[in-house]
Amino acid sequence: MRYYSTRNYNVTATLAEAVFKGMAPDGGLFMPERIVRLPKAYINNIAGMSIQDIGYALANFALAGDVDPNVLHDIVNETLNFPIPLQQIDENRYVLELFHGPTMAYKDIGARFMGRLLAYLQQQKPHGDTVNVLVPTSGDTGGAVANGFAQVPGVHVYVLYPQDGVSYIQEAQFASLGSNVTALEVKGTFDDCKRMVEQAFMDEELNRQIALTSATSINVARLLPQTFYYFYAYAQLMQMNEKAASQLVISVPSANLGNLASGILARRMGLPVKRFVSVENVNNIFYQYLQTGKFTPHPSVYSIAPALDAGNPTNFARIVTMLGDVEQVREVVHGYSYNDEDILQTITQVYNDYGYTFDPHSAIAWRGLTADLQPGETGISLATAHPAKFSQAVEAAIGHEVEMPLQLVRFLRGTRHVTTINSGYNALRNYLLAQ
Ligand SMILES: *Cc1c(COP(=O)(O)O)cnc(C)c1O
Repeated sequence: MRYYSTRNYNVTATLAEAVFKGMAPDGGLFMPERIVRLPKAYINNIAGMSIQDIGYALANFALAGDVDPNVLHDIVNETLNFPIPLQQIDENRYVLELFHGPTMAYKDIGARFMGRLLAYLQQQKPHGDTVNVLVPTSGDTGGAVANGFAQVPGVHVYVLYPQDGVSYIQEAQFASLGSNVTALEVKGTFDDCKRMVEQAFMDEELNRQIALTSATSINVARLLPQTFYYFYAYAQLMQMNEKAASQLVISVPSANLGNLASGILARRMGLPVKRFVSVENVNNIFYQYLQTGKFTPHPSVYSIAPALDAGNPTNFARIVTMLGDVEQVREVVHGYSYNDEDILQTITQVYNDYGYTFDPHSAIAWRGLTADLQPGETGISLATAHPAKFSQAVEAAIGHEVEMPLQLVRFLRGTRHVTTINSGYNALRNYLLAQ
């Protein structure tokens, strides 16, 4: 199958080209030329199926012809080696826990799949012996990508992060891996890191010497695996309460809209979901778009749900490509926006009412779902991070300590390997060329 640019249907690429390039040459995002609609019989029989079986079926529908089915089987099974349970909270509301992967954030799923797919596409060495993944991070993306790509042959990951800008546990998640993962601490801000990476991608001379690729949510390889858990949520709900599954609303905490774009893709593939709720913090560019019809990016501001601090949601182009104009988008997606105080209040309230502990990102989706859900409907709220990752805010809201899972403790015990470089593009360029 070919992949086309959201800016121009005639700009196309193969799967390998789309994955290695990340962004289309005209600045658009790649989309599959055909969205395969699953047979109705498949959806009707999905109740109780495993996430691995669902992932393999969906991956085959989407990637048949491009990736050997046996390889795809391994990629899917290695990606999805942790549970993604659907927890019932009350009569008509459920939470899908996407945070049981290695870094306990939802990005593990897309990053693990992309790492393994990239390794497969790299076997023919289209770009020499090693392809280099550059990831600027303000915290969570670096850890998920580094862990998704750790030990993957033919791939080296460089994580750029602001000195003093990420938490101790976040740094541990990429700096303690060693081998093919290098932690580059930049004497600057997150914006400096982002700019340095952008300049590296535009540096034609550098790109002739070393193969560079990006692993942010603009990469189409992260879009597909995120459809798996939407179908899996439905499969679990069908098993628990078939009637409830017929009026389904799914709520997503949104930043760059990668998760929401995958949900909309799943719907196009035939998932019976009535609508989505997209919930942002005060960085509410998409919410404003739904209100006014105007998409106006602006600089992001800090919040207690930092993974939602996005001022220019990159996957917006994919959503419009799949749904159409603002009227059509509004039919499928309802938007909400909440501030830090709302988030903390929600964590406290849900904890008091149900004994369930949300992290700030997951709490925001729940609040939007609760506001939007109509009588007779069933809601699933996506929980994207484990509460222990944001323990300070959570502990303030619930009034006692959150236990640190072993998975996270392990990172803290590891030895850190950090290289510090100056801010500014030349520091990065010189460093890369010296490797
Ligand atoms: C990245 C992230 C999000 C936002 O996902 P997008 O795909 O960027 O919209 C939400 N929650 C957590 C915990 C994240 O790390």
